[in-house]
Amino acid sequence: MKERTLAKTLARYEQAPHLVFWETTKACSLACRHCRASAQKTALPGELTHDEGIALLDEIAAMPAPRPIVVFTGGDCFEREDLYELVSHATQSGLRVGVAPSVTPRLTREAMTGLFERGVRSVSISLDGSNATSHDSLRGIPGHFDDTLAALAMLVEMGFRLQVNTTVMRRNAHELADIARLIENLGVAIWEVFFLVGVGRGTEIEEVSAEDAEDVCHFLVDVTNRGMTVRTVEAPFFRRVQAERLELAADDPASAFSLGHLYRDLSAKLGERRADVRGHSATLATGDGRGIVFVGYDGSVHASGFLPVTLGNVRERLLSEIYLDSELLTSLRAGDLHGVCGQCAYARLCGGSRARAYARTGDVLGDDPACVRTRERRVQLAAR
Ligand code: SF4
Repeated sequence: MKERTLAKTLARYEQAPHLVFWETTKACSLACRHCRASAQKTALPGELTHDEGIALLDEIAAMPAPRPIVVFTGGDCFEREDLYELVSHATQSGLRVGVAPSVTPRLTREAMTGLFERGVRSVSISLDGSNATSHDSLRGIPGHFDDTLAALAMLVEMGFRLQVNTTVMRRNAHELADIARLIENLGVAIWEVFFLVGVGRGTEIEEVSAEDAEDVCHFLVDVTNRGMTVRTVEAPFFRRVQAERLELAADDPASAFSLGHLYRDLSAKLGERRADVRGHSATLATGDGRGIVFVGYDGSVHASGFLPVTLGNVRERLLSEIYLDSELLTSLRAGDLHGVCGQCAYARLCGGSRARAYARTGDVLGDDPACVRTRERRVQLAAR
């Protein structure tokens, strides 16, 4: 991303978020082993009411243009009885809406037609394994892998702008090339790769090491070279890797960047890049609290869904006021970071995962331990 574009983008995030994630409910009939939300079978008391949801959407619609995109997440947004009314209200107010439903028997053609007719075009669906054994064991439901592939095929056919979300963790990192090829063959154009942060039920599962995270990011650059749009969540250092790959246009990234076996294996499985496509990815330079804000099921506001620091509540204050006035968000947007991240030449482009810094170090503004650039500092600290 050019410096002028980056400066313009960051200035825009000073005025309003680009994306508002609204956890419409905690209810979900799945019980995924890595669930950020620790979703429940039934809604929790204290969920924002219909009227409170409408008020929230009105407030977002009143934010400065370009107005934020609202992503209805959960839990499973289909567990909200008033989902259609909320979506209709949002789109009629001029908001762009994305939905992130769970793959359950509620996700039918009829249900999705209802959303399409109300103006929804963007849908994200989770797929965390390249085969039934891997995916189903994480989701806790036999047959869920096949159901997910069927849902993806249906949504592509219905004309939705479809995004597959994959959470990368130690147990599935070696499957990423197969997942990439699988979704490419299904005709999915956007892949959002979440790097596990140990919150919610995710604390029971192992994150990838910093070295493997670096390998994965280089592999994801290769995926963009096949024409797929790739975004990362809680791994903004992917943008640093992209920039480094552009700066040092090496024919053999594995040697040029001293990458490990994981990269070599994934890259070999992915196969040759296509010469006719130009790699691209959505480099919006967003980060926790920087262009992104998360509204919990109970109206609590957070810099991200993975960062359990409450900044206020939309029941008491306007979301825009919390976004603009919060001391933490102001620091995050100003890039007032500590340690290696604070000194890093890529801090404005990246900024590290604030959620992981908090989960692993207790310091929201501290180093992101999943980035290899922070490794030396960790070794020094451990030796004290
Ligand atoms: S050191 Fe921090 S800011 Fe720099 S690339 Fe790594 S995570 Fe990003």
